[in-house]
Amino acid sequence: MRKFKIAIVGAGPAGYFTAQAFQNAQTEEISFAIDMIERLPTPWGLVRSGVAPDHPKIKTVSKVFEKIAKEPNFRLFANVELGKDVSLKDLRDQYDAVVLSTGASKGRKLGIPGEDLANSLSAADFVPWYNAHPDYVNIEVDLSSDTAVVIGAGNVAMDVARMLAIDPTELDQTDVAEHALVKLKQSSIRTVIICGRRGPEHAAFTAPEIRDLPKLENTDVYINGNQIKAATERANIGGQIEKDLRNNLEAMKLIAEHSKKGVDRKLEIKFLSMPIEIKGNKKVEEVVFTINKVEDGEVISTNETFAIKAGLVITAIGYDAVEYLGVIIENGRINNIAGHIEHNVYTTGWAKRGPTGVIGTNKSDSSDVVDLIIENLKEPKISEGITTLLKSGHEVIDQLAWEKINASEVISGEIAGKPRVKEVKREKLINIGLS
Ligand code: NAP
Repeated sequence: MRKFKIAIVGAGPAGYFTAQAFQNAQTEEISFAIDMIERLPTPWGLVRSGVAPDHPKIKTVSKVFEKIAKEPNFRLFANVELGKDVSLKDLRDQYDAVVLSTGASKGRKLGIPGEDLANSLSAADFVPWYNAHPDYVNIEVDLSSDTAVVIGAGNVAMDVARMLAIDPTELDQTDVAEHALVKLKQSSIRTVIICGRRGPEHAAFTAPEIRDLPKLENTDVYINGNQIKAATERANIGGQIEKDLRNNLEAMKLIAEHSKKGVDRKLEIKFLSMPIEIKGNKKVEEVVFTINKVEDGEVISTNETFAIKAGLVITAIGYDAVEYLGVIIENGRINNIAGHIEHNVYTTGWAKRGPTGVIGTNKSDSSDVVDLIIENLKEPKISEGITTLLKSGHEVIDQLAWEKINASEVISGEIAGKPRVKEVKREKLINIGLS
C-alpha cells in the first residue's frame, strides 16, 4: 500500500471537492493523507462568505463538506496562511502533491474615470461585507441615497442587487452579517439598477436566478420587454436557439410581462448600457453610460449617452486570483495546464480556471485534476508534513475547533431564529475554537 501526503490550500468548494476526489480514488494499493490549509479560522470559502444569505439552499452543500472532513484521512489546518505561516516551497518539499484551491478574490476594475470615488465599491468587497467575512467588516458602505447602480449582468450582480433591493426584514431569518442587517434596515435605497453592457442574449445570469426575481414579495422588478423581444429575434437568427439561452430569455420575458405590485422598492435590469464615467464631488453622484447596440451579431457603441443619478455604485464584473510567491497569475487565474502548475504543485477551482461556474462545477473539475495528479505520483515521500513547518504555539483551528465555532454560531442562531449568527472577529473565532 502506497500512502501519499496531499496538501490542499483553501477550504472552499474547490478544496473540499478535491479532497473528496482523493477520498474516492483510494484503493487497496493507494491511499491519501489529506491536510487542508485555510487562511481564515473558518472553512467553506464562498459558501460562507459568497453565497447570498437569502439563498440558504445553496449553502446546504456544507453538509457534504463536513462529511468529507469527517473521513479519517482528512485534517483541517485553519488559521494558517500560505506565504505567511508556511511557504509554497516548504509545502512542496513536505507533500507528495500540493493543490492550490485559493479562489479568485480580487474584484476586476472597470478602468473608467471616477471609479475610485467614495461609495464606488467592488462586489469583491461588498459581498464579503454582508456575509461577515472578518477582513471586510470595516468596509465603508453608505446607503443614504435613493438609487444604487450595479454594473455587470452576472449572478453576482444579481445577488448584490437583490440584497440592496429587498425589504431587509426578509433577511431577518438569514445568516446575513448583523452589522450589514442594521445598515440595510437604515438604507434609503429604493431603486437598484443592474446595467449590462451587452444585450439580454449575452447576459451571464442563469435562469433559476432570473426566475427568482418575480417572487420577491416587496420589490417590483423591471426589464424592458422590447429589449427582450429584439434579443430573442437576434438569437433566433440562424435557426435553433441554445437551451440555456432560451430559458434565460423566457425568464426575462416573464419579468417584463409580470404585473407590478406598485411597491416603492424597485429593481431594474437595463441592457446595452456601458459605463464610461462615474461622476461626483469626492463621492459617487452619477454614472454616465454609452448606449450600445447589436449589429450583425456585434455589440457596438453608439454616440448616445445617458446618466443615472445614484449615490452608490457596485461593480460585479468578475474576479482575479490573488498573487503570492511561487505562482504566476495570467488572465486572472494561476498559470497552469489542465490544473498542473509545476513539479508537484497543482490548482483547482477559480484559481485554476478563472471565476466561472457554479459550486457544483468544481466537483468534476477537481476530479479531473486529481486523476492527473494520481497519474503523476511516483513513490511517497518520507516527510513530516505541515506540523514541522508551523511555529510552536501557532493557533491552528483544526476540525474539532471548527466544530466548536460552528456549534456556537448555530446555537446563537437558534436563539435568534436564524440558521446561524456569524462571528466576525478573527480573535473571537479563534478563542471560541480553542476554548
Ligand atoms: P460573470 O458571470 O462572468 O459576469 C460578469 C459580468 O460582468 C458579465 O455580464 C460581463 O459582461 C460583465 N463585465 C465584465 N467586464 C465588464 C466591464 N468592463 N464593463 C461592464 N461589464 C463588464 O461573473 P460573476 O457574476 O462574478 O459570477 C462568477 C461566477 O459565479 C459565475 O459562474 C456565476 O454564475 C457564479 N455565481 C453563481 C451564483 C448562483 O448560482 N446563484 C451566484 C453568484 C455567482 P460581458 O459578458 O459583456 O463581458
